[in-house]
Amino acid sequence: MKNAYLCDLLERVKQRNAGEPEFIQAVTEVLETLEPVADRRQDLVDAGVFERFVEPERQIIFRVPWMDDKGTVHVNRGYRIQFNSAIGPYKGGLRLRDNVNLSIIKFLGFEQVLKNSLTTLPMGGGKGGSDFDPKGKSDAEVMRFCQSFMNELYRHIGADCDVPAGDIGTGAREIGFLFGQYKRLTNQFTGVLTGKGIPYGGSLARTQATGFGLCYFTKEMLAAAGESFAGQRVIVSGSGNVAIYAVQKATELGAKVIAMSDSNGYIYDENGIDLNWVKQLKEVERARISRYTEKHPEASYTEGSRGIWSIPCDIALPCATQNEIDGESAALLAKNGCYAVAEGANMPSTPEAIEVYFANKMLYGPAKAANAGGVATSGLEMSQNSMRLSWSFDEVDEKLHGIMQGIFAACKAAAEEYGMPGNYMAGANIAGFLKVAEAMKAQGCV
Ligand code: NDP
Repeated sequence: MKNAYLCDLLERVKQRNAGEPEFIQAVTEVLETLEPVADRRQDLVDAGVFERFVEPERQIIFRVPWMDDKGTVHVNRGYRIQFNSAIGPYKGGLRLRDNVNLSIIKFLGFEQVLKNSLTTLPMGGGKGGSDFDPKGKSDAEVMRFCQSFMNELYRHIGADCDVPAGDIGTGAREIGFLFGQYKRLTNQFTGVLTGKGIPYGGSLARTQATGFGLCYFTKEMLAAAGESFAGQRVIVSGSGNVAIYAVQKATELGAKVIAMSDSNGYIYDENGIDLNWVKQLKEVERARISRYTEKHPEASYTEGSRGIWSIPCDIALPCATQNEIDGESAALLAKNGCYAVAEGANMPSTPEAIEVYFANKMLYGPAKAANAGGVATSGLEMSQNSMRLSWSFDEVDEKLHGIMQGIFAACKAAAEEYGMPGNYMAGANIAGFLKVAEAMKAQGCV
């Protein structure tokens, strides 16, 4: 990066947020790609938009005490980062996982601002969560945790202020417990959370949206390069919400998905993944992916999730977690013939991995564009709640499809306009930023 103003800003971000590597990683990537914007738009520099853009509007950290089934008290830490509300109420998921910390929630909130802008819906960006992992806990323990979490969070959120949703570890069960407690505390039935169950205000197709949306985006990216999913060998990491529906849609679009994983290891099935069995294991039994081979002894299970990237494939869809593909894994993918990577997870590729993609002229669909279908459909859930009506599955899916086509077109156009054709990472950052930046400038120094 040559722009002196941005270099200085990045230095200040590093100093002010020392000890937050994920947040610094995300800001570095974005500022680097915004260099041509800073060069052209002195008005945004003068209005302090870049400085304000990298500083969250509000950061809330709180104690979450809860009691396990044996009567032992545990204390977790809760977070809600309200990053930017220039174009709408804060919006973004709640992550429940033992490794959650301020850096991870801030990087996710920062990315969310750009992602939500790309959807074209009126949503600002935020993110939250806790270092509590629902894995291995009873339903009653998860409920007590969620109720305690909401006992603090409820005073900071609202349908027109901040609308949380699911993320890693926060699925339909957790959203239900959180919503129930919010309603009880406020005596209001509003669309304060998305990802709700269908009987109480959820949107059809929200469960499928991130995975389906990822494939709709990838379809556009492939088509622009004269390719398609038909007959392609695809690897999908993870076996959670995003991964499962990415496998389903990629298969419907003609691909053969040959591998999936969880945080312990990966399965490889040359005949194509049996998704119904994975759904039974993961969605119903909450079991480990290693049990896949019980029904498919011809498939293999290998300990260690990173090994999944050593399987030769045409297209890789990382759908598990941040930094799951490092430079070495990316080099292996490229060497084995993979020509396209599209991100279902948030920031799954390290900066070194992204360098490998560009050096090998691979197609690269960055998370904030490729996985925006989830939050876009959350936006549609908010609209349905406000209008007090519900759309059919096909109506929502059709809107989602249109939004993902629009996101790809916006990334492509911005990349071309700023002299980086085919660089959808730069295109996504620039297109997402400009809308928020114009709104921030118009609203004055706030
Ligand atoms: P889930 O909790 O449903 O699933 C996460 C999956 O990733 C699980 O299979 C988990 O395995 C696996 N996993 C976690 N850590 C690792 C690891 N280090 N190596 C390999 N596998 C791992 O979460 P989601 O599917 O909702 O989210 C996945 C990603 O997608 C996250 O980055 C999230 O931020 C992002 N995302 C999600 C959206 C949504 O709508 N849900 C929207 C946009 C982005 P295990 O069971 O062992 O924990």
